[in-house]
Amino acid sequence: MKVAVIGAGVSGLASIKTCLDEGLNPTCFERSEDIGGLWRYTPNVENGKCSIYQSVVTNTSKEMMCFSDFPMPENFPNFLHNTRMLAYFRAYADKFDLLKYINFKTTVISVKKCPNFSSSGQWEVITEKNGKRETTIFDAIMVCSGHHADPYYPLDCFPSIKTFTGDYFHSRQFKNPHGYDGKRVLLVGMGNSAADIAVELSRVASQVFLSTRRGSWVISRVYDNGYPWDICYDTRVQTWIRNTLPPSVLCWVTERKMNTWFDHANFGLQPCDRTQFKEPLINDELASRITSGFVVVKTNAVEFSGSTVKFADGSIEENIDVVIFATGYAYSFPFLDESVINMETSKANMYKNIIPPNLEKPTLGIIGLIQPLGPIMPTAELQARWLTRIFKGLCRYPSLNDVMNDIAKKKEIFIKRFGTKRENRLQVDFVEYLDELASDIGVKPVIWRLFLSDPVLAAALLWGPCTPAHFRLTGPGKWNEARKQILTTKNRVIKATKSRVVNNQEDKSLSLRLLLGAFFIFAMIWALIV
Ligand code: FAD
Ligand code: NAP
Repeated sequence: MKVAVIGAGVSGLASIKTCLDEGLNPTCFERSEDIGGLWRYTPNVENGKCSIYQSVVTNTSKEMMCFSDFPMPENFPNFLHNTRMLAYFRAYADKFDLLKYINFKTTVISVKKCPNFSSSGQWEVITEKNGKRETTIFDAIMVCSGHHADPYYPLDCFPSIKTFTGDYFHSRQFKNPHGYDGKRVLLVGMGNSAADIAVELSRVASQVFLSTRRGSWVISRVYDNGYPWDICYDTRVQTWIRNTLPPSVLCWVTERKMNTWFDHANFGLQPCDRTQFKEPLINDELASRITSGFVVVKTNAVEFSGSTVKFADGSIEENIDVVIFATGYAYSFPFLDESVINMETSKANMYKNIIPPNLEKPTLGIIGLIQPLGPIMPTAELQARWLTRIFKGLCRYPSLNDVMNDIAKKKEIFIKRFGTKRENRLQVDFVEYLDELASDIGVKPVIWRLFLSDPVLAAALLWGPCTPAHFRLTGPGKWNEARKQILTTKNRVIKATKSRVVNNQEDKSLSLRLLLGAFFIFAMIWALIV
């Protein structure tokens, strides 16, 4: 079976590898000259390609973010600079010999159903390289073209920006803090891009303002007991509790948890509509830069005039030199026509967030068009494993009626959990979504059964972080190292920071004393009873 993979970023690499594991024949087309997609930093902004700033460090941790059968090097820190991410993707491509399947500097121009699509499920793909076009027929398509290349730049919401005399541009254009010395900068928006850029610029600019409509919860990469936030947050038990609690109780618990680090109201950050879900900011320094006065939080910018900006609360800031619109991203698939995917409602219309339901044959899927409350990499990988098995007919693809019912049911749950805001449209619950795909593929561990045969592993699967290796324990694609990998996760997390080994004698003697104390109390009670 010939499969076209469009894009050689994280999703594309995982898709090529998965095709090979499943005995399919992949051909990948990548418009740039290299792999890595978003994670390959370039000093210039390239047209149509995602663009990151030089300082980007992941906001998900390495144990959660690695591919399921290819752990990250032990000497890597828990959160990675983009250069390390790229090094990891290069090592992955080398190990599984993926490069030979990739056609670089080749852009996919169009993907159309073949005239006999309803019987063959085949696609006609037109590609362009060095100005030369070529048409090839494929049995299936994996779209891995990403969703952070088209800036969402809502200047129509800020009509007076035309009168602004300073520079203004989208955060996609921002590369590094050179040239901002002594400037007064305004960031519009409060997503992770805005927060990262505000913190970075606040070290050189004379003043940074961060304006927000909704506010945001801010958490640190360093979470409970110093573990990475996702190691603590993305566990099966935590997910079950979150999804079972009544919304008002969940809201109360979340607010209490979020405010343990600092009171968000006192920092002007607290989200205004507490019932609306908002992806938290993961930023270790924002609160510190605010409390030191380098970053000032403002309400939404409503009017620009010359170098003056007026905000929704009536306050005014003068002599602003630069405005950066960190207003997020749109996404589009210019090579697919509307009969395949309707951009207006695409999120709501995808089966398992992967396959557009109006296809007579499920031979095209979109990988990585998702925003989990956890890392995208293992999510895209599991999507690819699911999709390739759909292609092969090894996973059941339901009738159109069942597909539409499933989509409608999920949409209802989605709106209850994440609301209807544009920014949340790709959100999924990380653990729940992975478990759902895994159970279709036959790789979801049966935890209750494991409690009888391997209780230590069962406990780790339930209470421990839902790492990618959970989906390599059993079923197709089983990896013999998976159990060991899962049970040693926390050791590697600690090893990454414990570069100076400290003497734990005192702690040990304290534990021993506590243990002896408990034993003594138990013995006394026992003596009294008998
Ligand atoms: P991309 O990395 O965007 O790759 C798509 C590839 O497709 C590109 O190489 C592009 O050139 C190619 N392409 C596009 N169109 C065509 C075409 N027509 N023909 C041929 N090739 C084409 N996620 C996390 O999980 N953790 C993080 O810490 C994290 N940090 C992020 C930081 C920033 C600043 C941003 C913007 C996003 C971050 N994300 C993070 C989300 C990020 O999108 C994913 O990590 C991941 O990079 C998505 O990979 P992808 O392969 O789907 O898309
Ligand atoms: P984003 O999360 O979509 O945030 C966009 C922000 O723009 C929101 O705060 C939103 O405001 C605001 N906004 C949108 N339209 C607006 C309008 N008309 N007027 C005023 N404000 C408007 O985009 P992002 O920050 O670029 O992040 C994109 C993705 O990349 C996210 O998944 C993020 O986690 C990831 N990322 C990761 C890192 C990292 O790993 N270090 C860094 C950057 C980005 P409201 O909140 O008021 O709706």
